[in-house]
Amino acid sequence: MLCDVCNASLDQGQGEWVTADAFRYLLNNGFGIHESNIEMVVSAGVTRDEAIDILRRQYTASSSDWLLCGECAREATAKLAGMRERWIDAEHVAVTRTAEEVGHGFHTLGAPVALTKILWTKCVEWTEEDTHKQCYQEQDARLWDVLATGGATLQLRINLFFKSQCHKYTVLCIPRDGVATEAVAVRLVMRPKQMHESFWLVINLVEP
Ligand SMILES: [Zn+2]
Repeated sequence: MLCDVCNASLDQGQGEWVTADAFRYLLNNGFGIHESNIEMVVSAGVTRDEAIDILRRQYTASSSDWLLCGECAREATAKLAGMRERWIDAEHVAVTRTAEEVGHGFHTLGAPVALTKILWTKCVEWTEEDTHKQCYQEQDARLWDVLATGGATLQLRINLFFKSQCHKYTVLCIPRDGVATEAVAVRLVMRPKQMHESFWLVINLVEP
């Protein structure tokens, strides 16, 4: 038997089985694509990014259980434990812990909170490279801006939200587009959504 992630050989009964769904969850959170497999695909003549993309699609499509060696299992556990925000699927990142700290409307609703990928990518995600290209920003502060304004305005209009199941608000943010250095107004919308066996409050960009 081999570890499905790093190809380490395992004796009978060694390693940990992970369901396809659980593995997809790990994959969405940046675990599961081993360097040796990336190198193998790259050697077939594609770029590193393309190789990761190919492997990610292939792994995501798999419906069989995964066998992880002890080291990979430990790495996956450590990776998740160290993450404040986790991707619950490829399109939604959970931000419940920060929303709980913000309180206000989030506290009143008491539901887990998620951002859509498009909102996360444009208004929250920020790396050192982005600071280099655009200007200095901190990802945690960007997330706080999105949620603090959301929680406060939601609380003010909570009765309306219960009736309409929708809350729109505006945040000022520097879009992560490789060039902007000034904040612009971005319209956001919160809606309840049933997913992964829970009722979530999902925040998304308002479609233009
Ligand atoms: Zn392994």
